[in-house]
This record gives sequence, C-alpha cells and structure tokens, in this order.
Amino acid sequence: MSEIKVRSSYLSHFFDCPKRTLVKIFPEIKEEYNFIEPPRSIGSVIGSGVHKGIAYALNYKDSQYEPKISDIIECSVNEVEEIVKNKVLWDAITPNINAGTGQIEKIDHTFYNQSYRKLNPLRIEHSYSGKISLNSAKINLSGTPDLINKGKGVDIIDFKTGVALANYQSQLGAYSLLYQTNEKVKPEKLMLEFYPRVRKTKEVEPSFIEYDRIFSEKNAYGTLIEISRLYDLFTAEKDPDYIPANPQSKLCSPKYCPCFGTDFCKVSKIKRINESNR
Ligand code: SF4
Repeated sequence: MSEIKVRSSYLSHFFDCPKRTLVKIFPEIKEEYNFIEPPRSIGSVIGSGVHKGIAYALNYKDSQYEPKISDIIECSVNEVEEIVKNKVLWDAITPNINAGTGQIEKIDHTFYNQSYRKLNPLRIEHSYSGKISLNSAKINLSGTPDLINKGKGVDIIDFKTGVALANYQSQLGAYSLLYQTNEKVKPEKLMLEFYPRVRKTKEVEPSFIEYDRIFSEKNAYGTLIEISRLYDLFTAEKDPDYIPANPQSKLCSPKYCPCFGTDFCKVSKIKRINESNR
C-alpha cells in the first residue's frame, strides 16, 4: 500500500469533481496519462500575490515597526509580475497586468485598514502534517494555514480572494485536525477573511466568516474517507471510468482541467447523431 499525499486545500473542491482532484492525489494516474496542465488562472495568481503581501505585513508584528502599505503592495505586485512571466489565463475581471495591479492595491489597502491591526500572529504560514489510515489507504495529510492567531483562544485564519465568496469549511476543518494533532490544543475559531477581486469602479467589501469547528472537522474527515474509498476502488479496478466525474462543474473545460479530452475522463467523448443517421 503506498502512501497518498493529500493537501487540505484539495478538500473543499473535492466534490466539485472527484476525478479532477484525484489526479493531484494519485501520482500513478499522472504517470500513466499524458495530461497537459492548463496555465494558472489570473485569479489564483492574484491570490498568491495578496498572500505574499499579507505574510510580509504579518511578519512585522514581531517588531516595533509597522510596515508601510506601499511596501506591502510592492511585495504583492512583485510576486504577481514574476508569475505572469509564464503563461496565465486572464479573464474579464482582470484582462491584463494593469488591472491586476489595481486590484491588488485595493485588496492590500482593505486588509491593512480593516484587519491588520486586529491580528496577533502566533504562527504565519506554518506547515503541519499528520498521517491517518482509512480503508486501505495511508493518507499523509498536510496543510499550511495562513495564520494561527491569538484571540481569546487560538484561532485559525485563512485569507482568500476571488470573484465570489466560496466555501472552505473542509479545508479549515483539515487545518483544525492537523493543528490539534501537532499542537495538542483545540483551536477556538476557524475564520476566513475574503477580499473580492473587483473591477476598477467597485470597492472591495471584505467578508469575515467564522465556520462551525466541529462540522468543518467532520466534513474534512468524511471527505478523506471518500478519498480513501475511491483509492481502494481505483486500485482494485485499475479503471478510471469508475471514478465519479462531474461534467456540470464550472471548471469542466480544457481551459481549467488537465483531464479534459483524455482517456482518463471520457465526458467530452460524446457522439452527436445527425437526424439522417438515427
Ligand atoms: S473533464 Fe470535467 S468531468 Fe472530467 S475530470 Fe475534468 S472537470 Fe471532471
């Protein structure tokens, strides 16, 4: 039995299309099929830039100085400029680097004005891992919460950007399980700070979300059980057609999914029947 590596960040999107996510988790699938990885979306690139700036700012909390907002923005923009040297998938909200830079400035300003001074970091982007055996799979779960924060208790906080607020309960639930395994302390709160990526004319209105810890942990655990079940199924059958695919997913397109059009996922292999052939 080989060990399978599961990142906490895979869990929240797992049921959007298990087949797409399992490609990341089962290395033997990647070896067997020639997937062409689509370019990164500009949304995820902006997310990386914002995270870089936030981590830079939070690291100043150890010192008696406050970082300048211009330095935070520079840190974020540098990260994005570096990534877009490779091909990225621009979209209608962020069609070019100028639009992206403007969005980063707004998001970083909003974080700085509405959140930064309220935070009290214990650990910033600290990686945790833990092992768990489920069915016949040995799962090595890992995760890097953006922030372990000292509030009334210890809180786990993740920062997200995007066009629309999505739900990350299983990801935060996995962080919570990993935190308890490693630190032997239960976190008080699982929090999400969401900063929308908006067009030039709009303001960034952040959302500050608290998830139910127990529900989130159980949701993460249940998703891991499902991953291990599919691992057993795939190992027994050696046939990818048994792995559930969701062609209704918004990411079911060659633009976003490396499986599209391959023998690993045959959802695009449909025949159109002409009236004359019926
Ligand atoms: S092509 Fe569509 S259904 Fe198949 S794995 Fe990708 S997202 Fe899922």
